[in-house]
Amino acid sequence: MSDLGELTYPDLEELLQNGLRTVLVLPLGATEPHGPHAPLETDTLISVGICRRAAERLADDPEVRALVLPPLPYGVTRYGAGFPGAVSIGEETLRALVVEVARSLAAQGLGRIVLVNSHFEPEQVRTLREAVEEAGESVRLLDLTRRQNAERLTEEFRSGSCHAGRYETSLVLADQPELVPRDRMDTLESKMIDMPAAIAAGQTDFMAMGMDRAYCGAPAEATAEEGEQTFELLTELLVELVREVAAC
Ligand SMILES: [Zn+2]
Repeated sequence: MSDLGELTYPDLEELLQNGLRTVLVLPLGATEPHGPHAPLETDTLISVGICRRAAERLADDPEVRALVLPPLPYGVTRYGAGFPGAVSIGEETLRALVVEVARSLAAQGLGRIVLVNSHFEPEQVRTLREAVEEAGESVRLLDLTRRQNAERLTEEFRSGSCHAGRYETSLVLADQPELVPRDRMDTLESKMIDMPAAIAAGQTDFMAMGMDRAYCGAPAEATAEEGEQTFELLTELLVELVREVAAC
């Protein structure tokens, strides 16, 4: 069992006595529109999927164990505000929440923590970078927007035209295919929009960026197979970082 929230406190106590180094992984997402075909919880679902796979991968490791914390399904998400279902919290709330959760865990000897984020609005990413800075050196962020990580991911992800497109939709198909209405997904034409460039040019909502149905990229090309391959890469990245944190 790798989800901390499913354990009883005696289970956790026992687990912590067996001498392995424990790293907690905290899945972070958002609740926001992901096209007409992917669920509002897409980002959270992806982060949870990466965390569970990494914990599973480490299940028989002789030195390191990963436990998955209950996810944080709200983030700083303003670009989707023109659509139903975008639920945003402010930067200060997110920062304080992450820092206080980390401190509470550290106080009980569980201070090695990796944040796993799949929501890439710049304000979200910046806030998480600040939060890990503040929380101390045993708290790290799996930052997929960093070049050395991004370059290991798919072409669409690297292109920046990847909100609810092929990259994210494939991951949802791999994990919870029942949440994607395939007939709707199949009809979506691809929409190449350079989100980082649009953001740099001052556009701060999906509509202004030309995303009139809250997606860009090529969702109709998504497959569960690509999703599994991408999960595999993401899991590797997380396991590497968990090992680094375990050693500190
Ligand atoms: Zn997303």
